[in-house]
Amino acid sequence: MDFDEFREFGHASIEFIINYLSSIRERNVLPNAVPYAVVNQLPKEIPEQPEHWREVLKDLESIILPGLTHWQSPYFNAFYPSSSSAGSIIGELLIAGIGVLGFSWICSPACTELEVVVMDWLAKFLKLPEHFLHASEGPGGGVIQGSASEAVLVAVLAAREQAVVSYRESHPELSESEVRGRLVAYSSDQSNSCIEKAGVLAAMPIRLLPAGEDLVLRGETLKKAIEEDVASGRIPVICIATLGTTGTCAYDDIETLSTVCEEFKVWLHVDAAYAGGAFALEECSDLRKGLDRVDSLNFNLHKFMLVNFDCSAMWLRDANKVVDSFNVDRIYLKHKHEGQSQIPDFRHWQIPLGRRFRALKVWITFRTLGAEGLRNHVRKHIELAKQFEELVTKDSRFELVAPRALGLVCFRPKGDNEITAQLLHRLMERKKIYMVKAEHAGRQFLRFVVCGMDSKPSDIEFAWTEIESQLTALLTEQSLAARKTGNVADLTQHFKIHLNDHEKSQ
Ligand code: PLP
Repeated sequence: MDFDEFREFGHASIEFIINYLSSIRERNVLPNAVPYAVVNQLPKEIPEQPEHWREVLKDLESIILPGLTHWQSPYFNAFYPSSSSAGSIIGELLIAGIGVLGFSWICSPACTELEVVVMDWLAKFLKLPEHFLHASEGPGGGVIQGSASEAVLVAVLAAREQAVVSYRESHPELSESEVRGRLVAYSSDQSNSCIEKAGVLAAMPIRLLPAGEDLVLRGETLKKAIEEDVASGRIPVICIATLGTTGTCAYDDIETLSTVCEEFKVWLHVDAAYAGGAFALEECSDLRKGLDRVDSLNFNLHKFMLVNFDCSAMWLRDANKVVDSFNVDRIYLKHKHEGQSQIPDFRHWQIPLGRRFRALKVWITFRTLGAEGLRNHVRKHIELAKQFEELVTKDSRFELVAPRALGLVCFRPKGDNEITAQLLHRLMERKKIYMVKAEHAGRQFLRFVVCGMDSKPSDIEFAWTEIESQLTALLTEQSLAARKTGNVADLTQHFKIHLNDHEKSQ
């Protein structure tokens, strides 16, 4: 492809993206897909001869798009947002266009240095403690990882290596394998699956401690677990706390957890994959309590900071602990500025060797939106979630399961789990909005999350109308079926509750 054709292809692709995003509300958020629908429409081999890019874009429109779930749609209300913005999309294009890798400073100095700059900008924007900045006097700093899972794994592996070294110093009678066999880590039973997975990958058991009734993990629970383990000869290594759990966006008590971690010299990592965006808001300053005492933390810019996947920020109070744990050198990786002037070689801060120029899309996003634009985005999601919460509370057929937290509302139709499952099934079949359910203490509930590049109050109205009208339809069908068979008395408890509420409101 020559440059003229490349230009044409590029312009057409930008048009394609803009048309897709600007008309995203016209598509069902969930596809009409059946397994293998895409596989069966595509050839089994790479085409032998080059095809025209127009043919490729045509197939993208007619074969691929109908098989996609539209994550940037405002009617995508599942999981947590995977955010995006014009600046970050162009940033991603420029990253690919420039095509550099930046595993060490010499590989592409500006790639490393721009990351140092944007990570310090972000730390200041989120009002993180000074010691997390590259510009601070100490050994702290931030790095961009691909995902929260990678950030957590890096923290777990570094904490593990530090613990092995320090325990062997104080217990020279134990072999390395004996020490490794005794290591143990902690998190809450509400933490994300990636934390348990980090334990599997690090070959270190992670005890998932019971969160309180309010789904918060506190220091006293951690202390009890650590004391039990120490008494039985185990070696506590790291506690991974969460600010903004995946199920209900609960916030672990970082202050009491840090007191216990300090007492037992246990690394404290905070996974703030979603909620970290709210650190920037003065009205959410409570969320930052205790962060001055943690060893490391992560926040996904791809969730709440309008940067497209993948982009997960991680900060370390002492980056040397990670560098010392992961430093594996080869002659071809050396350069004359290594270890000087605190310029990091980020390959030591991560799992892979190669690394993307993600800082470029962060820089472009931050500059094109400004700090004010970023704060407004987080505030808008909170406001839209409040709007949804109000609609739930006004309808007596529904109940909230947990207090609204940032852009997440956990709610359910009153009654048993069956009606929640049936309502969700119905909504998924209709494909107009996409939510997922979660469960706590045996009760299933629906999670409504404000997502999308540009959600509006009218989108919340749309989602609510869809939800409440489908509950009405479900209840009506059930009551008609029961009346037909003369089995009103047999209506299960959940339908009776709703039938009564519904009939009263008619
Ligand atoms: N931690 C929390 C609290 C999450 O909610 C999620 C995903 O939603 C993750 C970690 C995993 O994030 P990632 O996909 O970036 O690994």
